[in-house]
Amino acid sequence: MMNMPLEKSPMPASAGRVAELADQCVQCGLCLPVCPTYALLGRNEAESPRGRIAIASALARGLVEPTAGLREHLDHCLGCLNCEAVCPANVQYGELLVETRALLGPATRRPRLLLELVKRPALMRALRRLGGWLALPRWKNGLARRLPVHSPWRAALLSLPARAPAAPVRISGEASERPRLALFPGCVASVDDADAQQAAVTLLQTAGFHVSVLPAFCCGAMDLHGGAADAAEQAAQSIRVAWAASGATILLSVTPGCLGTLRRALPGVSVLDPVQLLAEHAAALSFRPLAQRVALHLPCTQVNVARTDAALLQLLRHVPGLDVLTLPRPPYCCGAAGSHLLEFPERAAQLRDDTLRQAAALEPQQLLSSNIGCRLHLDAGIEQHGLRWPSQHPLTLLAQQLEHSH
Ligand code: SF4
Ligand code: SF4
Repeated sequence: MMNMPLEKSPMPASAGRVAELADQCVQCGLCLPVCPTYALLGRNEAESPRGRIAIASALARGLVEPTAGLREHLDHCLGCLNCEAVCPANVQYGELLVETRALLGPATRRPRLLLELVKRPALMRALRRLGGWLALPRWKNGLARRLPVHSPWRAALLSLPARAPAAPVRISGEASERPRLALFPGCVASVDDADAQQAAVTLLQTAGFHVSVLPAFCCGAMDLHGGAADAAEQAAQSIRVAWAASGATILLSVTPGCLGTLRRALPGVSVLDPVQLLAEHAAALSFRPLAQRVALHLPCTQVNVARTDAALLQLLRHVPGLDVLTLPRPPYCCGAAGSHLLEFPERAAQLRDDTLRQAAALEPQQLLSSNIGCRLHLDAGIEQHGLRWPSQHPLTLLAQQLEHSH
């Protein structure tokens, strides 16, 4: 039944694409050991890449109904792309997942109101200011504990940073008439990773680049991965408009989780992690020593989309005295995965706690991670387990150690 010829089962264009992508899978199972959800609750085939591909194929061909149970196996997928990275048949799993979710539409567990909120940086900043006046960071844990364990609002409250957001990223010094690089601030990152964005600008300017900054808005990744295709396309259109107005030749994001969506919106445009450029121009940078042991968490999107994990390590090794210890994989994903931490907080916490156990074994003095979603999620676990490590973006540490006199 699964191999029914396509001409006997007319499908809408997107269903045809899903079936075509699924047919690339030779069912070898080599992706199973690197899938964080396959291992999470015992080895469940339906929670594996191969199982999800079979489900997507059957749904696209109309061989099964999109029941809540089947749908949930797809919704549990973290989109980490560890499976795609090891697949010998070159299955485009990321595209298959996006197309399948678009076919099914937004999931019922999707916390629409909350996502609408986090996608609006100006509103987020205003609410954070209000929360600061009301001392929300002090009583958020007590408030969160009154909510059900699976509530997305509970997960959001627990992930709320104690510190106030830094000022939005700005370009100082002489404005260049022809900026080569444009930085995409995003939504959550523009509020809670503004210091990392400022750090990126400082490092890039020191390395001789001209940088401009795009307006802050959501890249649409959470919509794209949540099956909200129309909202994702609207975000893509905003990206194209902002990019065209920038006059730049390379688009950057300090958040690896945004890179895939930006590349999808701007085919043919060079969309990079600034780490790549900085590693290539490291000779122009000089750093003060820092005698510290740091645990480096490598977000899935840094490894599988940006592919800058080696460049980041190379860059951090330029800081004399810094002992950088990469977190071992598995568990292969901290569980944040865009809106996954809001939709499935208990599963997300399990993956996060496995990650923190790996980090604790390294006895770090601080934790570095490039993805703001991962860092907020890890910070919530650090606080919950009383671990007391500070965490920051690796570029923030690099900018702090920069020798400006070079
Ligand atoms: S590794 Fe690739 S071909 Fe093999 S089961 Fe996984 S997705 Fe299919
Ligand atoms: S994207 Fe990640 S969670 Fe999803 S099937 Fe692949 S390895 Fe598993």
